[in-house]
Amino acid sequence: MTATTHAPAAGPASPETPFTPGTARIGFIGLGNMGSGMTRNLQAAGFHLVVNDVRKESAADLLAHGAEWAESAAAVAAGSDVVITMLPTPKHVESVAMGRGGILEGLPHGGTWVDMSTSVPDVANRVRRAGEVRGLRVLDAPVSGMSVGAANGMLQIFVGGEAADVERLRPVFEAMGDPERILHVGGHGAGYAVKLMINQLWFSHLVATAEVLSTGVKAGVDLEVLRQALIASPANSNFVQNDVLSILNHGDYDEGFAIALACKDLGLSVDLARSVGVPVELSSLVEQLYRRAKALYGDKAGEMTPVKLYEDAIGMQLRAAIVPATAAEGA
Ligand code: NAD
Repeated sequence: MTATTHAPAAGPASPETPFTPGTARIGFIGLGNMGSGMTRNLQAAGFHLVVNDVRKESAADLLAHGAEWAESAAAVAAGSDVVITMLPTPKHVESVAMGRGGILEGLPHGGTWVDMSTSVPDVANRVRRAGEVRGLRVLDAPVSGMSVGAANGMLQIFVGGEAADVERLRPVFEAMGDPERILHVGGHGAGYAVKLMINQLWFSHLVATAEVLSTGVKAGVDLEVLRQALIASPANSNFVQNDVLSILNHGDYDEGFAIALACKDLGLSVDLARSVGVPVELSSLVEQLYRRAKALYGDKAGEMTPVKLYEDAIGMQLRAAIVPATAAEGA
């Protein structure tokens, strides 16, 4: 499919009709760790998909199950009622939306673009302004839940934009996320801000946990005894209770989310704080620790790899006998 005209899309006729399986055509760009699971769930729910990625091989399974391939973002947009992007960085989002052969070139009048990447309001605002004359509807809807949540359709989704658009998109979001955790968090850009703050806090918990576990163990306390004491104390956190178990039990630092993307998120979060005039010393320090881990262990290392900085410092790995998780291990 190579069309780049502003052809009318085949889906819901009225601007109030929800985008439901069987009627709406969903365009999806970015079939990586997250997008692959999200598209499989959209397809399983009965949505017709038009897809694109710079790596065509990433679409093989979807195409085998009836999805359409489009050669460009413009062609995805021309053949869809809603275009979803799930791309690495704001730079990728801007070029796919506004670049040559981009979404804006193909989107039909009144079309909808939903950016589910962890990005920033500036880019979406530029796209929204550029698409205004054609009645473009825009939502930011970044997610939490890791690649596991994407695969099993249990993502948490934080949506910024107008309420009527959110309601129209609800069946689409529900195919990818936990219906109880699809939250309309405010106007345009609020979804991005909430997502960045969640990640910032989670990465800060990770670094703080790595410090106290390493120090306690080095001081002679048994690792699991220390962890249980923390869980029973006012210092408990979801990271201590659940997420750290993937390292302690399996030596798994979550390569499903590359540290290069974690560093991108931390940079965006510190930039956001700067842009609204909030001093964030702790966040900046956590960002630097993440960047150090990325430099040492490589861009593709998992998001929890900063724990290794501490393991290297104490000369041992933090490992426990297998401990059952009380909730899903897992940003
Ligand atoms: P990824 O790198 O695995 O996937 C990105 C995909 O986009 C790749 O398949 C890549 O080939 C494709 N792509 C890049 N440039 C493109 C272009 N110009 N046109 C078409 N396709 C292009 O990344 P991911 O882990 O899936 O993350 C995607 C987004 O979701 C990021 O913003 C990330 O911060 C966010 N996120 C990731 C996780 C996670 O656990 N992986 C969790 C929550 C949010």
